[in-house]
Amino acid sequence: MALSKKIKRALRAVVSDVGFVEGPASLRVYECDGYTLEKAQPELVVLPKTTEEMSKVVGLLHSEAIPYVPRGAGTGVSGGCLPLDIPVMVGTSRMREIRNIDIANRRATVEAGVVNLEVSRAVAAHGFYYAPDPSSQSACTIGGNVAENSGGPHTLKYGVTVNHLLGLELVLPDGAVVYIDRSAEAPGYDLVGAFTGSEGTLGIVTAADVRLERTPEAVATQLGVFPGVLEASRAVSAIIAAGIIPAALEMMDALVISAVEAAYHFGFPADAGAVLIIELDGLAAGLDDLCVRVEDACREAGASEVRRAADETERALLWKSRKRAFGAMGRLTPSYCTQDGVVPRSRLPEIVEIVAEISERHGLRIANLMHAGDGNIHPLVLYDDKDEREVERVIMAGHEILEACLAMGGSVTGEHGIGVEKLDLMGSAFSAATLDAMADLRAAFNPENLCNPHKVIPTDRSCVEVVRPRPRGGG
Ligand SMILES: Cc1cc2nc3c(=O)[nH]c(=O)nc-3n(C[C@H](O)[C@H](O)[C@H](O)COP(=O)(O)OP(=O)(O)OC[C@H]3O[C@@H](n4cnc5c(N)ncnc54)[C@H](O)[C@@H]3O)c2cc1C
Repeated sequence: MALSKKIKRALRAVVSDVGFVEGPASLRVYECDGYTLEKAQPELVVLPKTTEEMSKVVGLLHSEAIPYVPRGAGTGVSGGCLPLDIPVMVGTSRMREIRNIDIANRRATVEAGVVNLEVSRAVAAHGFYYAPDPSSQSACTIGGNVAENSGGPHTLKYGVTVNHLLGLELVLPDGAVVYIDRSAEAPGYDLVGAFTGSEGTLGIVTAADVRLERTPEAVATQLGVFPGVLEASRAVSAIIAAGIIPAALEMMDALVISAVEAAYHFGFPADAGAVLIIELDGLAAGLDDLCVRVEDACREAGASEVRRAADETERALLWKSRKRAFGAMGRLTPSYCTQDGVVPRSRLPEIVEIVAEISERHGLRIANLMHAGDGNIHPLVLYDDKDEREVERVIMAGHEILEACLAMGGSVTGEHGIGVEKLDLMGSAFSAATLDAMADLRAAFNPENLCNPHKVIPTDRSCVEVVRPRPRGGG
């Protein structure tokens, strides 16, 4: 679809030169997100600065029936903001104001383009923080977090984004600005719940009212070292079965450890087959006892070593190693594809064995990173993007892993969303009637399907096959 000069002029007049991006060189950065197997350039990107500008932009696109895709920071890993056959991208990177901090009521109003970590930084001096902490939190935006209902290492105890939202300001696909309330006293439908996780298919979030949490009085972070992922998985079940709910319970296998050790030099033992990072928080009284119980559970499951981060510096380095593990993978491979599946926690050992079998059968190296406490696995399939046949095997292996998660009563995504990557799996994950109900919801908000078409719900559900360009590699 070639955009007319008239609409380009009108959009430019709204967002001014600084918010108007065109030309192949400038647009390259917008051609994919963290899912790099498919790429496409929009014809232009517009970056409104205010809700009013966003409303005008969306209103113009609506009046001309032009499809568009919302984008935050582009850290998504399922192709949610891929502009496949979508001429316009609407970004929130200039909407970066924290409009209000209300400590007395433990809430803040933040614009969609505010980076996740900035919220916690802004309230830290008051003894508060914003709990959802995706590992990408130094880059990803609050709008993207809402659209993906993002989780993170601390999801186990604190829940995901939707559990921390009190209200949303939205620009609907016809340009109308609405506020949907989720505070305890708000009557009516829980539209915040419906909107959160909708991956930009219902409209654009322009601001969120978020709940602030008190910074815990004390935190203890332990490292458990295991001969392999099976033993570490057993420790995860044992800790939870002991009635302990850690704030975080994360696992890295030997391949991930080798990459992060080379990058960040934490001092992981060279022969570790897997490690668990276990974080406990709350009142200082009783925390030491909990650490002992966690250590016992780990040792019984086969840990060769369990130690507690000695100080804040060591704790920060441990978390850096975990949260930047994705980035460190570049040391092992030209490209990798991050999978994101969920299994019941007790079945982690089984899925780990299945992933190993898939890895061997396809001749692919697969590293394992997990929000283990949630049963949320992130197998990282390593490959060379110049090898087309390998790319095909990567896609097959990813699908097999996710089908195995479904067969165990799990899910095809824990936090990364469907985007375009997992459209083909929606028919396996949901009945036709459920997909119809989802499509009806989308049609209620987005009747012309202009806002982020071709995402989340397969358009041709009768055959489930989704027609889209062949992967072109990436990294
Ligand atoms: C290294 C790394 C680590 C990660 N770790 C985690 C993790 O621990 N937990 C986790 O959940 N995710 C994780 N992610 C995935 C990703 O960071 C999250 O999904 C994040 O919320 C995306 O935010 P974003 O601003 O980059 O959104 P984008 O990638 O720009 O967009 C994501 C989706 O949201 C839509 N969207 C964006 N902004 C808006 C808006 N304002 N209104 C409506 N729709 C919008 C887009 O259309 C797209 O469908 C990780 C990614 C990377 C690269």
